[in-house]
Amino acid sequence: MRAFAYSRADSVDHAAHRITHDAAFVAGGTTLLDLIKLDVLKPKNVVDINALPLKRVERLDDGRLRIGALVTNTDLAHHPEVKRHYPLLSQALLAGASTQLRNMATTAGNVMQRTRCPYYRDAAAACNRREPGSGCDARGGLNRLNAVLGGSDACVAVHPSDMCVAMAAIGATLTLSSADGEREVAFGDFHRLPGDTPHIEHDLADGELITAITLEPPLAPAGSYYLKLRDRASYEFALASAAAQLSLDGEMIGEARVALGGVGTKPWRCPDAEAALVGQPAQIATFERAAEIALRDATPLEHNAFKIPLARQSIVRALREATRLARDEGKQEGQV
Ligand SMILES: Cc1cc2nc3c(=O)[nH]c(=O)nc-3n(C[C@H](O)[C@H](O)[C@H](O)COP(=O)(O)OP(=O)(O)OC[C@H]3O[C@@H](n4cnc5c(N)ncnc54)[C@H](O)[C@@H]3O)c2cc1C
Repeated sequence: MRAFAYSRADSVDHAAHRITHDAAFVAGGTTLLDLIKLDVLKPKNVVDINALPLKRVERLDDGRLRIGALVTNTDLAHHPEVKRHYPLLSQALLAGASTQLRNMATTAGNVMQRTRCPYYRDAAAACNRREPGSGCDARGGLNRLNAVLGGSDACVAVHPSDMCVAMAAIGATLTLSSADGEREVAFGDFHRLPGDTPHIEHDLADGELITAITLEPPLAPAGSYYLKLRDRASYEFALASAAAQLSLDGEMIGEARVALGGVGTKPWRCPDAEAALVGQPAQIATFERAAEIALRDATPLEHNAFKIPLARQSIVRALREATRLARDEGKQEGQV
């Protein structure tokens, strides 16, 4: 582990001024400190942002929910607004990591967490994401955990977040702040596909920090479900996960949202699958067709072809559960 200078920021402006290409913010520290110890990230300056006033969750007048960047994963999962109106997000958060980690991990830190590709985390391996131009040992290596969607010759690393999969399905906007003011980026545009430049992971410029994430208003009456499939039942990243959300109009699907985790190089929204659901009967055959469409461009590596049927199944099961919950919700509201 290399030495770094540590300082605390006491305002967003202060934090933004401190952040240069060789500096890093620390929030919960659950990703950053691991990667510093592994010699994967080598910031010369670490700026602690925990004193910033970014810990509120508030409902906006337009029905959206604004989440401060420093709200912990635990507080967000158990927040009454999230449990009532965004159970999908609560489920996804609680499916991630462990209680201790969620108590420290923050909303923005989760968005910014790095891939768990073992070759990225091994400073001795070739990894274009960690060291541009060095190659990709995952392509010809042990790639069971790698991506089947969104990969390139340069990189096939999975984005590991559960929370981000729920946010991709719900629809959200990130607020990025710098000394020049604020700008907003749609959640789906924030994480980048690797292409030829996998080291450029997101749309955050030097001198910017994430200050909030604002969720779209909830669908109503709707059901939603987050299904995470993994090698062991807890404290493990997804092999495949699906976030599904839909509203019903009688037995027909009104609106539908589907996103995948564990299989894509970024949190993977499935707009074509969603289009195949809308206006169709809420039944297994419809869900299977949507799942086929969601995975039709999937490209397996030597050891991860199993992820394609696994992801399809996760979509079908998540949609089936979401439908059951939407029916229950509709009955409660007397609408179905
Ligand atoms: C053993 C283990 C198991 C895990 N399992 C899961 C899992 O199953 N599912 C899952 O989703 N996650 C999992 N995680 C990842 C965990 O969710 C992340 O480590 C956590 O969310 C990161 O948040 P943090 O606040 O600790 O970030 P930090 O470690 O403090 O920061 C992470 C990155 O974000 C940057 N950053 C932080 N805040 C901001 C900001 N406001 N603006 C701009 N940049 C910022 C930092 O500079 C750094 O690059 C696991 C982690 C561990 C260690």
